[in-house]
Amino acid sequence: MKNLPLHWKIMIGMVLGVLFGLGMTQWDNASTPEIHEGAKFIKDWIYPFGEIFISLLKLIAIPLIIASLIKGIADLEDISKFSAIGGRTIGIYILTTLIAVTIGLGIVNIVKPGTGISKETLDRLVEANQTDKSAAENVEKKIMTAKNTKSSGPLQFIKDMVPDNIFAAASKNGDMLKVIFFTLFFGISLLLVDKEKAAPMKAFFDSLNDIVLKMVDLIMLISPYAVFALLAQVIVSAADPEILFNLLQYAMTVLFGLLLMIGFYMILVYFFTGRSPIGFLKAIAPAQLLAFSTSSSAATLPVTMERVEEHLGVEKEVTSFVCPVGATVNMDGTSLYQAVAAVFICNALDFDLTFADQLTIVVTATLASIGSAAVPGAGMVMLVIVLQAIGLPEDKFAVGLALIFAVDRPLDMCRTVVNVTGDATVAMLVGKSVGKLGEPKVQNWDDNYDAVK
Ligand code: ASP
Repeated sequence: MKNLPLHWKIMIGMVLGVLFGLGMTQWDNASTPEIHEGAKFIKDWIYPFGEIFISLLKLIAIPLIIASLIKGIADLEDISKFSAIGGRTIGIYILTTLIAVTIGLGIVNIVKPGTGISKETLDRLVEANQTDKSAAENVEKKIMTAKNTKSSGPLQFIKDMVPDNIFAAASKNGDMLKVIFFTLFFGISLLLVDKEKAAPMKAFFDSLNDIVLKMVDLIMLISPYAVFALLAQVIVSAADPEILFNLLQYAMTVLFGLLLMIGFYMILVYFFTGRSPIGFLKAIAPAQLLAFSTSSSAATLPVTMERVEEHLGVEKEVTSFVCPVGATVNMDGTSLYQAVAAVFICNALDFDLTFADQLTIVVTATLASIGSAAVPGAGMVMLVIVLQAIGLPEDKFAVGLALIFAVDRPLDMCRTVVNVTGDATVAMLVGKSVGKLGEPKVQNWDDNYDAVK
């Protein structure tokens, strides 16, 4: 067991978590089904360990971005390389997102989930959401958040990238782009000052970077136990299987699209880098498994960066920029989901979509996924903006979201895997195109979590 590669340990933790969660739901169904003893036990005594793990990962995200980005820029011999990295990253990110939305729209228009859904099923789905108070409140909150986002001006996005206080920005994980902006500015200025003057600062960030990466290794040692806790919680808070069954066709459509996206990444990796697509997946498997367990690209970021750099061989100059920016703006899985969900809701509510509406979905789902935060459930918030753009009446938003709410968490887990895989793919493509894709420091199946050996 001790020598088992990490991803196997994580998988075992996940399976045991699911089984434990299922066992606990049986406890719920004893003589008093309204008292959820099992769920309460997991929430009070198991889930906190998962939450602590997520906090630890988030804790090191900002120091890791700062240290590795500064080190990455400081190691660049030529500053013009940086604009090549920046331009290609943004370009490929937008392109892959557009392709994801198009795939989503293509499949949903073929499968047509939601058409012909009976009035009773519709009512049952909405009612199930309304009787669950926290679910209903959740839907309302998502609509409100989306409306607040919409009411800001068109240049808000750019304005939001420039911090007026770096300490304030670095104190919030949601302000990752602000931190990246400051760090880039700092790193470029570091390159421009006298070499002798810059040396101590460079050495400091060099050392900080190694220390933070070691922290990632240490945190990952507890990941198998943490995913156990996270998955047990997912199972006990899942909706009634009967409700899930009604949404099966819709969920399968999203899942099929997400699988196609993974296939698409593998093709890209093979054709543009010549690397084995299976080796690519094996190398990033721990990041994917964590994305699945946490539903958050931001929480997974430290592991994504480590895997891309050490197990795929993408040099720090590229990884340190492409991965954090990707975690914030590149969400192919989310955009694909938003396209499918928008059409599903319209089908179910008998709201006809024209070809122009479908084009609107392509544009708005792309933008909405860029604007989605890298946290659980954020994709559903921004879905409201897509629904708004295609003209679904406002009074139907709550019903629309209530329809899909029951399966949102499992779909969120899967789309986050795609989001993270997309970031790793683009890091490889950009790395290759600027000559910064080397041999992996650690062979794919070997882990370097040797921190306590
Ligand atoms: N949970 C997703 C992520 O963190 C965002 C979403 O689609 O809700 O990447």
